[in-house]
Amino acid sequence: MAGDQRTAMEDMLRKQRAVATRSRPEDLSARKDRLGRAIKMLKDHANDFGKVMSADFGNRSPKQSMITDITSTVNFGKYCRKHIDKWTRPEKRSVQFPLGLLGAKAEVRYEPKGVVGILSPWNFPVNLTFGPLMQVFAAGNRAMIKPSEFTPKTSLMMKELVEEYFSLDECAVFTGGADVAAAFSELPFDHLVFTGSTATGRKVMESAAKNLVPLTLELGGKSPVLLGESADFSTAGERIALGKMMNAGQICLAPDYLYVPESRQDEAIHGVWQATATMYPSLLENEDYASLVSDRHFDRLQEMVADARDKGAEIIEVNPANEDFSSSNARKMPLTILKGVTEDMKAMNEEIFGPVLPVKTYAHIDEAIDYVNEHDRPLGLYYFGKDSTEREQVLTRTISGGVTVNDVVFHVSMDDLPFGGIGPSGMGSYHGVEGFREFSHARSIYTQPKIDVAKLGGLKPPYGSATD
Ligand code: NAD
Repeated sequence: MAGDQRTAMEDMLRKQRAVATRSRPEDLSARKDRLGRAIKMLKDHANDFGKVMSADFGNRSPKQSMITDITSTVNFGKYCRKHIDKWTRPEKRSVQFPLGLLGAKAEVRYEPKGVVGILSPWNFPVNLTFGPLMQVFAAGNRAMIKPSEFTPKTSLMMKELVEEYFSLDECAVFTGGADVAAAFSELPFDHLVFTGSTATGRKVMESAAKNLVPLTLELGGKSPVLLGESADFSTAGERIALGKMMNAGQICLAPDYLYVPESRQDEAIHGVWQATATMYPSLLENEDYASLVSDRHFDRLQEMVADARDKGAEIIEVNPANEDFSSSNARKMPLTILKGVTEDMKAMNEEIFGPVLPVKTYAHIDEAIDYVNEHDRPLGLYYFGKDSTEREQVLTRTISGGVTVNDVVFHVSMDDLPFGGIGPSGMGSYHGVEGFREFSHARSIYTQPKIDVAKLGGLKPPYGSATD
């Protein structure tokens, strides 16, 4: 990376911070106006974004992009705009007796932090850049963005459009490779939000630590699906297939592996197989089905399947039109279900992030609960079933970033629910009031009454009877 790119980022941070400081206090209308422009930018260029994301992926359904990247982000922006007044209202807090009677006051004001850095991934490039931005703006901050190098056309378009709709001191985008991202993560931001892999998240945290930059990490992991005996296996199969096949499994919250009752394994697999075949009767020429983002990502998944095969797993491909994937360079692969997996397989040790689905079995649900607890805390956890006692057992005995019951992935689409991981799947969250607070500084303001409280409370030397 050229040294002048680092300098340009440092200069921008200084400039944005100076403007942010100078413009305080800023009326809430300024935040609403920025949100309005972000919403307008997405709406005005919805189709352009759909096309450019498809070009970056090789193929990606513009209709899917409209759902996952445009409409959801626009709606989230509107949600933030609607709640700004409520979120920013100072909160009265109680003071210890008898200070209140004496006129003491305590309140919390949620104030802008300053300049927030946003480092985003390629899998939902628009959503995972502008989603955080909506809340960064709602909290009254300026933003600097470094989008992913794996979706270069989309990243460039984001830069050009941001420059058209915003001044550089409101929001600035820097494109480039991992070296630019690494330099970006070393900047002394007032807050940094990173969405990406756990491995890169570790590096980002190290860089942020040097300047004690507060950090939100939205990472990945292996999100399990626990299928209870009482589940409707056919409905569960449909919902799992939808969540797994969208974006060809390249979703941080995609169901990573299934845990099913031993005696009903084939029924569970059949449910997923059938639903996948119905939604995607063919794949290679099917515009609804996304390509894997790069040759490297494609090869990694092929190796994962080969490794499982070599170590004894049964490989079940959902290839209803019997297409020949080996002679295509479209980087598409069918959903590949792995039956009879063992713990030494790559598929059970790495986040899958593609259309591969290992299936494990249990004799009793406790085994599945213990398994989840013995592994890294996942970003999402999914339970299917009508048995409320079992559901509560699963919920109260495991820990995960979030949960969807009787479906997968959906909790992320609830604007009012905080979204984030825990431990290796992330820290902090955005969405909901929690996200607004994540990018705000909760500033405590205590006002002392006229009366000499220190003396009354015996805090003032010479210490005497009031101190005892
Ligand atoms: P990644 O970690 O490879 O890259 C993410 C970003 O980090 C990119 O912008 C990249 O430029 C940057 N980067 C690369 N090297 C860096 C370094 N040394 N220092 C700082 N930044 C660096 O992730 P990815 O492949 O783009 O995305 C897939 C991963 O992201 C998966 O693990 C997935 O689970 C996770 N993810 C999480 C969420 C969530 O909201 N929790 C959402 C989407 C994806």
